Amino acid sequence: MSERVIPIISQPLGNLPIPQALKGPAWAPGQQLLDQRKRPLRDLRISVTDRCNFRCSYCMPKEIFNNDYVYLPHSALLSFEEITRTAQSFIALGVEKLRLTGGEPLLRKNLEVLIAQLAALKTLAGQDLDITLTTNGSLLAKKAQALKSAGLKRVTVSLDGLDDEVFKQMNDVDFPVSDVLEGIQAAQAAGLGPIKVNMVVKRGTNEQEILPMARYFKGKGIALRFIEYMDVGATNGWRMNEVMPSADILHVLQTEMSLTPLQASQAGETAERWGYLNEQGVHDVSLGEIGFISSVTKAFCSDCNRARLTTEGQLYLCLFASQGYDLKPLVRSELDQSALTQAIAAIWSQRDDRYSELRVSEPALENGSTPSGAKRKVEMSYIGG
Ligand code: SAM
Ligand code: SF4
Ligand code: SF4
Repeated sequence: MSERVIPIISQPLGNLPIPQALKGPAWAPGQQLLDQRKRPLRDLRISVTDRCNFRCSYCMPKEIFNNDYVYLPHSALLSFEEITRTAQSFIALGVEKLRLTGGEPLLRKNLEVLIAQLAALKTLAGQDLDITLTTNGSLLAKKAQALKSAGLKRVTVSLDGLDDEVFKQMNDVDFPVSDVLEGIQAAQAAGLGPIKVNMVVKRGTNEQEILPMARYFKGKGIALRFIEYMDVGATNGWRMNEVMPSADILHVLQTEMSLTPLQASQAGETAERWGYLNEQGVHDVSLGEIGFISSVTKAFCSDCNRARLTTEGQLYLCLFASQGYDLKPLVRSELDQSALTQAIAAIWSQRDDRYSELRVSEPALENGSTPSGAKRKVEMSYIGG
């Protein structure tokens, strides 16, 4: 089999050594695991593939992710059993929420089988896990019912506009809006809700879609979330002047809609939530809500409780990291489950990441460098969003 060859610009920079516990185990059952900034581990994002059928310019630009790009071979991917085994260790350490992502997660064959395995697991408190999936929606109409039957609770669908011209410019593969809307309807009909729709706003490309998207999803029981275009990875040619700050998006919405800020529903929530006011100026829950994910203009690192597992078993502690910890040898070893759990605990207990906070306090950087280390960052399609 040929070696994996990928363009140097998007290659992760090797692995970090798994820290050794100096004085006994890093964690004991019943103890709360906290990182260096006192943040617990609650949310695990699992990338199930590094492939995608879209070429969103902000994530997998065509010039890099073209026919010459070599994706991970199947043998490098964690199997469903290996993913489930890894998830069990994370759950033992306090994880309550699993999000399947990618690449495009619905491209992974028989994903329902993995979902059924994960859905059989329980949180430490004996509750069902909150299992969700982020998708571009292209295959959702076909798969929604099977995903629900397997135990998926809800979905988040990415959609960057309602105008075909604009959307096709964003996905760069001529994919029409109507198929994504059909997927969203199928997910609603299957009971995969509450559904969230993510819209990345790129100034100069799709900002004119902000109001049409808000009008369309208002009152449909779907939360629309606006995401600031982020400087993830090193291939999207990110420029600060293409970021539309959430404050500006809110301003556009307020030219037509009356909105009111809502309380965060849980700690570590990435989106700032707003509700609609009715004609009497009273918050009307039936009109739904809007969210803002402001990772460029407003850091939310202080309560970030998310870890990311790549499709080949590397653990990343921050979306903007340049290196991960290779768990695969441990996942595939004959050692018992506690060795894997202790390794993850040792890694989490040393975590100090807060990239967005540092970026806010330092000038914005371009071309894939991080504020303090100036290292190349991992690609979002590899690590999962
Ligand atoms: N393919 C799936 C999808 O698009 O929903 C899942 C993976 S995708 C990497 C996860 C999320 O990351 C999507 O909502 C996408 O819009 C978002 N995303 C990707 N690149 C981004 C960037 N540069 N800035 C902000 N959001 C980004
Ligand atoms: Fe694919 Fe999602 Fe990235 Fe778009 S954002 S290229 S759909 S992985
Ligand atoms: Fe979490 Fe890193 Fe994002 Fe901060 S920058 S919120 S630490 S993923």
